[in-house]
Amino acid sequence: MAAAFEFVVETITVDAEKIMDRRTFVKRSAGAVGILLMPRAVPAALAAERRDKLVRSNAEWKKLLTAEQYDVLREEGTERPFSSPLDHETRAGLFVCVACDLPLFPSTFKFDSGTGWPSFYDVLPGAVETKTDFKLIAPRTEYHCARCGGHHGHVFNDGPAPTGLRYCNNGVVLRFVPDRGRT
Ligand SMILES: [Zn+2]
Repeated sequence: MAAAFEFVVETITVDAEKIMDRRTFVKRSAGAVGILLMPRAVPAALAAERRDKLVRSNAEWKKLLTAEQYDVLREEGTERPFSSPLDHETRAGLFVCVACDLPLFPSTFKFDSGTGWPSFYDVLPGAVETKTDFKLIAPRTEYHCARCGGHHGHVFNDGPAPTGLRYCNNGVVLRFVPDRGRT
């Protein structure tokens, strides 16, 4: 009897692991689908704002942006890790696109990923658009500002709950707007 009992316990354990794997897979798949479907899910007012694209020539952007901002936003460059003071910004407020002021991340979405770049587990609805980037061997999901098209960073599937996502953003292209009275 003891041997049979042990066998049953082992079977249950294996099944539980399979279920956990499936749950993780479903959660990650849902996250990826969420990104793809996000533009359709935004409220009408936000969608209208998002369609109001800001289009400028590269020459115009060069005049308006610093060299570092231009490199990231228009050339998809990456700032040095641990170089942005916003990596350690912990006040309540809003992170907006430095080029067009579109709000991207509330401070409540921010977490310390330890990577040296400001990191967020979610983004405001419709604030960014994504594309697959093949610059490294493994494809990555690039995201850019929905209004001005400026590159901000990449989104990965290794973030914390509740989304499991990690938006890895270049700090040099974000501007932090602290909440009034809470600075
Ligand atoms: Zn922008």
